[in-house]
Amino acid sequence: MEDLDPPREEPGAAQRILHTLQCHGLHWDEPVLWQSRRRAAYARARQRLAARGCLFRCDCTRAALGAHGACRGRCQPRQASLRQPSAVRIRVPPDCHIAFEDLKQGLQCVALGRETPDFVVLRKDALDAYQLAVAVDDAAQAISHVVRGADLLDSTARQIFVQQQLDFPTPRYCHLPVITDARGHKLSKQRHAPALDDAKAVANLRCALHLLGQRAPPAQLSGVEPVLAFAAEHWQLARVPHAGSVAAAAAHT
Ligand SMILES: [Zn+2]
Repeated sequence: MEDLDPPREEPGAAQRILHTLQCHGLHWDEPVLWQSRRRAAYARARQRLAARGCLFRCDCTRAALGAHGACRGRCQPRQASLRQPSAVRIRVPPDCHIAFEDLKQGLQCVALGRETPDFVVLRKDALDAYQLAVAVDDAAQAISHVVRGADLLDSTARQIFVQQQLDFPTPRYCHLPVITDARGHKLSKQRHAPALDDAKAVANLRCALHLLGQRAPPAQLSGVEPVLAFAAEHWQLARVPHAGSVAAAAAHT
C-alpha cells in the first residue's frame, strides 16, 4: 500500500481501495505491506547506498535545478556543511543506460543518466521517495512479476537502477494500458472520476476484460469468482492492446 505521503492522502482512502479489491474477488496472499510502516527498511537501504558512496545531499532550490528536476551540482561545494532540510539523491553516471524487456511493451532502453540524472531517494521534507521504497519492498516480498499500469513504465528504469545498486534481483515487468476517459485522461480523483461502484463488481470486471481485449465470460456467469476463474483460464496476454491507454468510451457497458 503506497501511503508514503500522508499530507496528500485522503483519510480512509487506503481502506477503501482494499475493500474494493475484495469486492472484486481480488485477494492478496500475504499480509498487506504498508509503506508508511516501512521507514526503517528504507533508511537501512539508504545506509547501504551511502556506505557505497552512491548518495549525496542536495539543497538546490527549484530555480537552481535543471530539466526534469535534475541537480546541476551547485550544492556540491556545500556538501560538508549540508544539514536538513536537504534532499538525498542517488548518483547516476551520465552514460548509464537501463534496458529491460517488458512482457507487453517490449524492449525498453532508457538513457537514465540523461533522462533522470541523480534522482531523489529522500525528499527534502524527509519523506521517502517512491522509487527507493518500491525497489526495497519488491525485494522484501520476493516479487517475481510486476504487473501494473503503463503510466508507471517510465519509473521502471529508476527502480531497476536502485535494485542494481543494492544487489537486488530485478523482477519481470508487464505494463498494461490504463483506462482513460473519452478524451484520453487517466481516470483519477484529480479529474473527478467517480470511484468504482463495488455493487457492480461483475460488470466492472467484464468491462476491464473487454478493454484488455480478453474473451467475454459467458453471460450466465453471475459472480466475481466464476468470472475471474473464466478470465484466468482464458487469459491471453497477446490480446491485450500494446497502447499505453485505452478509452473507457470503447467499453460496452
Ligand atoms: Zn543539488
